[in-house]
Amino acid sequence: MVELKNVSVTYSNGVDALDKVSLRINDGEFAFIVGESGAGKSTLIKLMLKEVSPNEGRVYVNGFNLNKLRLNKTHKLRRTIGFVFQDFKLINTMTVYENVAFVLRSIDAPKKYIRNRVPYVLALVGLKDKVKSYPNELSGGEQQRVALARALVNDPKLIIADEPTGNLDPKTSWEIIELLQDINKCGTTVIMVTHEHEFVKHFGGRIVTIKEGRIAFDDYI
Ligand code: ADP
Repeated sequence: MVELKNVSVTYSNGVDALDKVSLRINDGEFAFIVGESGAGKSTLIKLMLKEVSPNEGRVYVNGFNLNKLRLNKTHKLRRTIGFVFQDFKLINTMTVYENVAFVLRSIDAPKKYIRNRVPYVLALVGLKDKVKSYPNELSGGEQQRVALARALVNDPKLIIADEPTGNLDPKTSWEIIELLQDINKCGTTVIMVTHEHEFVKHFGGRIVTIKEGRIAFDDYI
């Protein structure tokens, strides 16, 4: 669950990025966060990860009170969240399998668990046959699927996808959003950030529009 209560963020140069934003996204929801460049979307995401602190207001994410969470404990919060980025951020020298297994190794998951979990998650995103490929041998859509598998492998409560379709053609974008919806149906909360307003209108569901640091629209369409 993500809850922002009256949150404002002013950067040190005086820019008011968010102005008294209140927003609640419950466990199991799928929400699109939409807004033009500069609207405050990235700041909102950074708040959820405690990469930015609010000047005022309260932030709660997955049971953590971020106002009270110490900076040396932020890894505990971040482990409950899977991220997907516009530019995939895969490691090009590692195979698809290794890119996903790496996440579990970094938290010292048991070897046997890794051997079972990684192929399972890769099959879930439709990449069973690509485990031995390297990222540069894959299409953009396939690379984003690997990124999704990597986000999912640790069974996070929440997936935050920041412009995940920004580098993809419309058909592939559509497939990635459908995959995010399937993941959501299995119980993971999904927040997808995008500037492509027209595109999300086709999908419907909850749309939160941010404009000049404020929530201009928050409803189901
Ligand atoms: P979006 O993700 O919707 O493009 P951002 O959250 O990145 O919007 O930016 C919101 C506003 O805050 C913009 O005016 C931007 O220039 C400003 N901003 C973002 N990051 C910083 C920063 N680190 N320092 C100063 N201003 C920033």
